[in-house]
Amino acid sequence: MNYKRSSDLFKAAKNVIPGGVNSPVRAFSAVGGDPVFIKEAKGAYLFDEDGNKYIDYINSWGPLILGHAFQPVVDAVIEKAKKGTSFGTPTEIETTIAELAVSMVPNIDKIRFVNSGTEACMSAVRLARGFTSREKVIKFAGCYHGHSDSFLIQAGSGAITFGTPNSPGVTQGTAKDTLLATYNSLESVEALLDANKEEVACIILEPIAGNMGCIPPKEGFLEGLRELCDKHNVLLIFDEVMTGFRQAKGGVQELKNIKADIVCFGKVIGGGLPVGAFAARNEIMDYLAPTGPVYQAGTLSGNPLAMAAGLAMLSELNKKSEIYNSIADKTEFLHLGISKVLNENNVAHTINREGSMISVHFSEEPVVDFESAARANNDTFKKFFHGMLENGVYIAPSAFETWFISDALTYEDLNETISAVDRVAKKLK
Ligand code: PMP
Repeated sequence: MNYKRSSDLFKAAKNVIPGGVNSPVRAFSAVGGDPVFIKEAKGAYLFDEDGNKYIDYINSWGPLILGHAFQPVVDAVIEKAKKGTSFGTPTEIETTIAELAVSMVPNIDKIRFVNSGTEACMSAVRLARGFTSREKVIKFAGCYHGHSDSFLIQAGSGAITFGTPNSPGVTQGTAKDTLLATYNSLESVEALLDANKEEVACIILEPIAGNMGCIPPKEGFLEGLRELCDKHNVLLIFDEVMTGFRQAKGGVQELKNIKADIVCFGKVIGGGLPVGAFAARNEIMDYLAPTGPVYQAGTLSGNPLAMAAGLAMLSELNKKSEIYNSIADKTEFLHLGISKVLNENNVAHTINREGSMISVHFSEEPVVDFESAARANNDTFKKFFHGMLENGVYIAPSAFETWFISDALTYEDLNETISAVDRVAKKLK
């Protein structure tokens, strides 16, 4: 494939944007080479500036569960834009989408909209701290909850990709309040709770992790966390930025039948526009300003275009629950197909999958936490990534990311992807 125009655009971008990108993983630094610049996208496909076409497994890092330029979302945004793009006042559509979200997700009474997943998680933790009058937070190594200070401690996603899970600029004062546990290890959490009695405000986690590749919770892990939280009067925060409205209408709370105290959303809830949200039962949400003392705000929060996109997306998902089975079936088909060809080509691998999230780890051992994810063979991943790109398949440019399956993918696309894996696998040895 020819990537000349993308490379020229990247050169120009680097002069005026740090690293040429507005979010680090986009730069392909982890896999080498210049990133491709996307010109447009429709359904399951991306088209770059050089005219190359790709089957897309990133889907804007998760939001586009129904594919690119999904017509009801596009139409809703266009119609809204004609009436003004922002007022800084309450609007009816904010209540409409809030009512819909509250009806779809179990165990929440109220929801507040923000502009990103980072803001959602940051605000959720502030709320938990205010509500419990405690300061410490337990997070898991390899989980990513956005780039706010408290979370850049052994963070996943781009933070591990770039080897800076603990970012300079985060003060020691902040870092000391973030306690680190091991994903899928209840013992590690119990030890922290015992050592910090009456000091921990909340435990925050990705209930299906997606930022160290996909790592599902082990049987009993989420239940165990719920019990520990109840025992120690600690709030349980599910960061459902990836999983919310993706793994089920009601997210992992519904899928696994576990109640969290606060739930964070992003990605799907905005239909591809910048939206995040956090939600909880009344007792907790009423602790927020203006009803309560915990302050949180946003000039563009609840922006009409973003709300219109989100409402169109959630309405579609609410109407057609069969989508969840359909994308899970497609993901399983992909899993079995990729496994088969990697095995035939003797490429050591472990595939993790849950619902419509899947990742291929070049490791023979089970990948259950950050340590086991980090032991996978990154050189093989780099070759795999570039091979797939050359074959017209766009996966995330880092081994520490998940593939997001959209319902726009056809079985023909999946078969083409599996054939591409076969061709690439032959060159991996
Ligand atoms: N939480 C999780 C689980 C995420 O995956 C992400 C982003 N990938 C975030 C929070 C942060 O969201 P944003 O990038 O919208 O700030």
